[in-house]
Order: sequence, then C-alpha cells, then structure tokens
Amino acid sequence: MRWFRSRFPDPAMATLPIAPVVRRLIHVKGIVQGVGFRPFVYALAQSLSLSGHVFNTSSGVTIEVEGGPAAVDLFLGKLSADAPDLAEIAGVYVSILDSRGEVAFSILPSKGRPGDYALVSPDAGTCDACWSDVGDPLNRRFGYPFTNCTHCGPRYSIIHGVPYDRTSTTMAHFTMCPQCAAEYADPADRRFHAQPNACPVCGPSLALVPRGEALGPDLFAGRNSLEILHQARALLHQGKILAIKGLGGFLLACDASNQAAVAEMRWRKQRPAKPFALMVRDYAAVQSLCQVSSGDEASLLHLRRPIVVMPRDPTAPLADAIAPGNNTVGVMLPYTPLHYLLFSDSPDHASEFPALVMTSGNLSEEPIVVSNSAAMQQLHSVADWFILHNRDIAMRVDDSVVRSFEGRERVLRRSRGYVPHALDLGRPLSQIVAFGAELKNTFCLTKGRHAILSQHIGDLQNFETEEFFQETLARMKALFRVEPCALAHDLHPEYRSTRLALASSIERRFAIQHHHAHIASCMAENHLDGEVIGVAFDGTGYGPDGCIWGGEFLVASLAQFSRRAHLRYVPLPGGDAAVRQPWRMALSYLRDALGSGNLPQLRCFDSIAPSQLELVDAMLAKRIQTVETSSAGRLFDAVAALLNLSSEVTFEGQAAIALEMAAAPHTSGRYPFDLQPGASSSHIMIVDLRATIVGIVQDIAAGRPVAEIAARFHNTLSAAIAEVCSRIRIGDGMRRVCLSGGTFQNLYLLHRTAVELRRRDFKVFLHASVPANDGGISLGQAVIANQILHNGG
Ligand SMILES: [Zn+2]
Ligand SMILES: [Zn+2]
Repeated sequence: MRWFRSRFPDPAMATLPIAPVVRRLIHVKGIVQGVGFRPFVYALAQSLSLSGHVFNTSSGVTIEVEGGPAAVDLFLGKLSADAPDLAEIAGVYVSILDSRGEVAFSILPSKGRPGDYALVSPDAGTCDACWSDVGDPLNRRFGYPFTNCTHCGPRYSIIHGVPYDRTSTTMAHFTMCPQCAAEYADPADRRFHAQPNACPVCGPSLALVPRGEALGPDLFAGRNSLEILHQARALLHQGKILAIKGLGGFLLACDASNQAAVAEMRWRKQRPAKPFALMVRDYAAVQSLCQVSSGDEASLLHLRRPIVVMPRDPTAPLADAIAPGNNTVGVMLPYTPLHYLLFSDSPDHASEFPALVMTSGNLSEEPIVVSNSAAMQQLHSVADWFILHNRDIAMRVDDSVVRSFEGRERVLRRSRGYVPHALDLGRPLSQIVAFGAELKNTFCLTKGRHAILSQHIGDLQNFETEEFFQETLARMKALFRVEPCALAHDLHPEYRSTRLALASSIERRFAIQHHHAHIASCMAENHLDGEVIGVAFDGTGYGPDGCIWGGEFLVASLAQFSRRAHLRYVPLPGGDAAVRQPWRMALSYLRDALGSGNLPQLRCFDSIAPSQLELVDAMLAKRIQTVETSSAGRLFDAVAALLNLSSEVTFEGQAAIALEMAAAPHTSGRYPFDLQPGASSSHIMIVDLRATIVGIVQDIAAGRPVAEIAARFHNTLSAAIAEVCSRIRIGDGMRRVCLSGGTFQNLYLLHRTAVELRRRDFKVFLHASVPANDGGISLGQAVIANQILHNGG
C-alpha cells in the first residue's frame, strides 16, 4: 500500500501525519448528462486534491477517485449534496478498487454499452448567469437570444438521439467559433460540453418577417438580433400579434394590457373563451398581477418555468378577454433569452409592458407548430409578424401548466421542463408501452424502475395529432432504448389511442378500464401497494357495462378493481352535443329528479329555442340517441346550466370552471342526498342526487344567491364522497383514499373533499407530478399492465 502526506489547506487536516490512499469506483445514475455534472465532478476532485477520472456512459456517469480516505468520503458526500441544479441523482453505487498512484484528475471520452439508457434532461429556463451575459453590453453575447450553458438551455427539444452530444442535436450544423470551442473544451468553464453552446458569431440567428412573405435562402444572413427585437417590441406596443418560434414550438404573443389586441387574437384564433396564458417580465411584476403563494413562487422561479395558475388580482391592468369569467390566470416567467429580450434589452432597463399573452401557436386542436415554413402557412391568418430562427425543434413540447394545492405543486399539463424526466416507481418494471386516453393524451414507457411519460400530445381527434403521437413514440423508444414486450390501452374500442394500439405489432395487450387507470396512476406516484378506495370523478370513461362512467367509487389494487358505488345514471342526450350544450344535461337531471310533467320555469332555458327544448325532451322521454352516464363532469355541467352560468360551452370543463368560480368561499350548508343499494345482483351503491337537484331548484325559485347555491352544491358532493367512502370502509376496513380524475382539478371540491375525508380519519392521496386529468391515464395503464404481468397474468 502506498502512503502519502495530506495536502489539505485545512490546518486540522494538515496535522494528520500520514494516511493510506484509497481508490473508489463510483457509478452515478439519474439525470447526470447535459447538466454540467462532469465539470462539477472535476472541480470537486480538484478541490479535494483527488486523482482519477470521470466519463459519461450510456447509463449515467462513471467516476474513479483516489486519495486520502477522509477526502474520498468528503467527495462522496458532496457528490449528491452539491450536485448542479439540473442534475437528478437516482442512485450512487460505490465499489472498492486498488490504488494506482495516479496524480491527476481527468475527463475521459464517453463510453456506451448497447441496451443501457441514460436519462435525458428536460429543457431548462435561462439561468441568472446567462441572463446577465445577455444583458451586459460588454459581453460578447450581449443581446444574443440563444445564449445557454451547462446549467440551462434547450435539451429534450433539440435531441435527435443518444448519447447526448452535439452531433445528435439540431445544433449539429453550427460549427463553434474558436472562442466557443475554447469554452466547450475547458472543464473550468460554465460552458464545458454545453452541447447547444453558441454565440452571435457561430450560432443560430433570428429573422423578423411580415405575414405572407416568402422565405428566401439567406433569410438569416447578417441579421442583428438586437435590432430585430427592438422592432418586435415596437410591433407589440402597436397592438400587433406576433408568432414567435420558441423552445418547443411557436407561441402567439400580444400585449396583455391591450384589450383590442387580445380580443383580435381571440377572434383570429377562433377561441372565444378558453383562458390565455401570460408571460410576465419578472417576479415582481407577477406579484403585482396575482396573489402568489409560497408554493406558486417556487414553481414560478424553478428552471422548469411552467405556467402557474394563480388567483388574479382584480385590479391588475390586464385585458378582460384574457380569461373571461375566470378569477385565476396562468402566468410564466421568461425561459429563453429571446423571451427576456421581448420585454427589454437588459435586466437594468424598464420593460415596455408587464405582461404578454403567450398562447400555443396552433390551429384549434392541432399540435403546436414547430417549423418556420409551417408557421408561415398555418398561422398566416392569426399573426401579423413572425419571429423565426434557424435552430430546428426536434421534439415539439408545449408549455407545462401547474397549480399549487396544500403547498405542493400539482401538474395539470406535463410537458416542457418536466418531460422526459422519469418517475422512479421504486420497483422493477417490465418494458411496456401504454397508449393513454383520447383527450389530453400522453403515452408512457416503463423500463428499469422508471416510468417515462411523453409530453402532452393533445386531443387525438385529427390526423396531425395522431402523427405527433407516432413520431414521439418512435423517438422516445429509441432515446430510452425501450423494446416493449406488452402494451396497454383504454377499454374504449373507438378511441384513436386504442386503434393505434391495436394496429401495433406488439401481441401482448391489456385493455384497461379508464377509471381504474386514474386510480392506479395516483397509487403509482404515491408508491402505494395493496388495496385502496379510489374516487375517480371526470367527464367520460368507457364502462364495461357499455355506459359512460365518470362518478366512480372503486376498491382497487394495481392489478384489479371492483366498482362499489357510482353517481346515479341519467341519460346523456345526443352524445357530443350534450357536452357542448350543458342545458341538455340540466334538462336530463331535472326530468330525473322531478318527473317529466313537473318541469319548473327556469331562466336558464330562456335562450334555448322552444323547438330545441322539445326535441331534447322527446329524446329523453323516448331514450332516443341517449346513453346512460354517471359522469361527474356532466353533473357539473347540469348544475352550472341550472344556475344560468353556462348554457353552451366551447371547451371541455368550461361549465364546471364557471361553477367553481361562482361558489362563495367559506359557505357552509348542503343539500340532501341519498345512498341506495343498486340492483339486487350487485353490491353497488347508487349515489342519488335527485334531492340535491330539487333543493337547488327550490333555492333558485326562492331567489337565493347563485354563489351560495354553487357552494352548497360543492359541499353536498364532498359530503356524499366522504359518506360513500365511510360505508365502503365498514365492509373492507380500508383507510386510504385516492382522488383522481379531471373533476378534482376543481380546488373548491378537492379541498372540501380532502377535509371531509380526513375528518373521518381517512388518509388522502392526491396527484402531484402527474395530472389528475386524462394526461395521467397512461401511467395508470402502464402500472396495471406491469402488475398483471408480474402476477403471471
Ligand atoms: Zn446558463
Ligand atoms: Zn461562437
């Protein structure tokens, strides 16, 4: 064994006379590539006078260090504790080696092994150091919109393949200038091996073109980005609508305080009511527009830079058309230098506007546009001007949306900044692909201990979205080297996601009931085993009895479920039309509660043509073009319509949101409801809300305030949920309740329900990293299929 005298500057350490030298082999797994991990390891080893080396492998990072035992221990401690912000360490595996007497520490070339997979980092918002580079007139990157470093910038959106190096990204055709190349090669530099590293001399450039202009071959030659952005700010100031190529796709922007511009954007985008998201220049400006909780603050400032939904300050200078009838607003901070520069050219300069509308650059229901030529064609009727650039987008990723509840971030749409971050499910998994739901589609791959969810694909209702699904699935399978041995899909035979699954060459297939998938998804992200009570409330899910389920109480494990209770079936008149026209559900619920001959005169039907009313009434009477449903979403539609809040809607959930917004906080009291045994052959309880509907109609007739009725309706539903769970517990003794489904995005309902359940001593589990809506279905499908395979099924 070799001995050496410690070289530590610390006097206490320096008094150590002589120590043995040890050598350790360390494998680090997780997101450790493309996040500045090797330079961090290099600097850490240098600071502790350790020798050895570090290199990327196809499954993570491998390190060997040699030196005194105390220094090596310190190294191991700091390796996890001080890792770079973007790194996510999933495991550190240490083994003992013989010492070799090395004197230096070095970074070696990457080594790959077939079949291994490394976790790819999501895109990250611009770090403070890069934003100061961009805002500093003396810096060579002053005003350069594509500035990034190992701590920030594009990742997933520019990757074609693995291993993650420049040649497998859309930066491949930009050759670094000598200065950038020197940064890239220097382990002490913030841009060491920053694959998208670029500067005004060698990197991508911008172009600003009016609508209708042909794109020439030298479009990007000799352009000055500062001038372009100055011009862009002036256009926004004039109320123009700009299509801006960003990180994961095009966004449409206009001045959020300009009522006419926002109204024009709505009209041109054919989007009458769905809220627009805002990009706000800085955190102080967000505080002046919204009521920001500490949870919201953490989400806003995180490098993931999601859209955070928060209560809006009613006095904020924002156009009403941003989120009509909604007292919340979705806000994000700038996440690329280009976005920062839309507000001002330096951190020290005043911005021309506090907030810009930033909404997806797409035609309704189609995927977000990613290429320059597609933008010029497809967004021609929406945008006046286009900010284009020549760094291609390899992976389309929309902005993510989150909301905070009980101090924790709850993801509503999981895309940029979150994907492809893998969820560690804490158990070994087979390689499976789950095709997800029809609306808000995502798919999910499992491998190792990981579930890898795709970004938000959208509503699988047109060819373009289906193509996006297929492309992304092929890309992700290659990226993570997944060869699925089985697939999972929704039980609904008509879903496009089901048809895509059935067209696949994978022979082992599992059809999973929609609400079971919701509950399994919630179980998986909370690492739950065994059986739980699952309350799955949403708009639509195919039931094995051929009815449309959506107000479901299950006793579920990962492998199976039994239905224990559901909202009483009512007829859904006219399929999709009933979703678009909530008054139809109001009529259905009224007939169910009061009988056909006793329909009260309600103002909510005043705007409906008598012939329409008669037609739907006849449909309900004769059960023509109707299907039975227990949907909670349709129940909310019905009550919102009864209260005259929403007789027609243009996006899913609009009526339910109106009802949530109307509910007066801190209102007590509720309506009566009944729990009844179902058919004699089953032990299924029926949640009968006919008395609730009668109570609501009486309150409307008595002229009670809508805010109070809406609140009491929410309270009724929460009380019914808690009561049903208590009855299930009497039989089965279960204390754990999972709440899932899009209806629980309603925070008034979620809060009341969680409070009621906890008061009855239930342990309540909610979603956080995965959406409660159908965006979380694919995870549930994947874990159910895995469990069935695991059980030998
Ligand atoms: Zn940076
Ligand atoms: Zn350069």
